[in-house]
Amino acid sequence: MICLGIESTAHTLGIGIVDSNGNILANEKKSFFPDEGIHPREAAVHHTNHAVELVAAALLTAKISVHDIDLISFSQGPGLSPSLKVGAVVARTLALGLKKPILGVNHCIAHIEIGKLKTAVKDPIIVYASGGNTQIIGFTGGKYRVFGETLDIGIGNMIDKFARKVGLGNPGGPIIEKIAKKGKYIDMPYSIKGMDMSFSGLLTFAADSFLIKKEKIEDVCYSLQHNAYSMLVEVTERALSHTGKNEVLLTGGVAASKIFQGVLGTMCSERGAKFNVVPANVAGDNGAMIAWLGLIEYKAGRRQEINETEPDPKWRTDEVEIGY
Ligand code: AMP
Ligand code: MG
Repeated sequence: MICLGIESTAHTLGIGIVDSNGNILANEKKSFFPDEGIHPREAAVHHTNHAVELVAAALLTAKISVHDIDLISFSQGPGLSPSLKVGAVVARTLALGLKKPILGVNHCIAHIEIGKLKTAVKDPIIVYASGGNTQIIGFTGGKYRVFGETLDIGIGNMIDKFARKVGLGNPGGPIIEKIAKKGKYIDMPYSIKGMDMSFSGLLTFAADSFLIKKEKIEDVCYSLQHNAYSMLVEVTERALSHTGKNEVLLTGGVAASKIFQGVLGTMCSERGAKFNVVPANVAGDNGAMIAWLGLIEYKAGRRQEINETEPDPKWRTDEVEIGY
């Protein structure tokens, strides 16, 4: 069975083609990262403009005809409403035109399942760190439960916003990681409330440290990263301790950070837990992860009618009943 998956929750339009053995036959994407940040309506225009070309490119890469596709899946949420609607319309058009089944899947769970496919992990605590989402997750009682999460912005958005504010460009994650290599620690906010985290105070403090207090940019980048990643490491360690699980899976776009991989990996090895990280080519938003989750759910018997495919911008990880 072959599934074409459509990702369009935020900055990236992705078209992936995956078979039921988990082989990624194609994973095409185009991202929208303007200097001034993402305006939801402009992101939707970007996705609309590139949809047909990306579907054609994915079919070409996969070396298959559109008629070889057995299932269409798409990100039904969470995400930016205008962007999500584009993905849903492309999915409905393909499904109705080709007379194939359609399945809307949860974007956050797709980040988890692609990580499970690509690593040897079985029952991990999941560190899902991306642009819009930041959650520490574990599977128990039929659902992926959220043990801790950001109370305001996602860690990736925080880093990107900081980079834009101080004029480093967009997306900021990889840029800041490079600059931080030469930096040293200066004191900055570190906010954990229970098992939840807050990043907006750190963002304001870091930007002001450079713009007003004239601290060196490399020290500011180093300290911002240091505190943001340490907060996630602390909550992850507590989730491991609480659940008794002994594996960690790092997934989402921020999983590409070598520094973050390093500190999370160190915590894991110190407590004898196995550390796994999603490969960089499927860490950020992409269509293959959506196709793979579509296949998993279809095989488990989930079906959807066209009138059930309206996007849900606030669809939470822990609302999804896992039937496989
Ligand atoms: P996603 O929303 O899952 O596609 O992830 C996108 C986010 O990943 C953006 O906020 C990027 O800044 C971030 N990102 C990508 N590469 C890195 C990196 N090397 N270090 C930190 N963040 C990164
Ligand atoms: Mg994402």
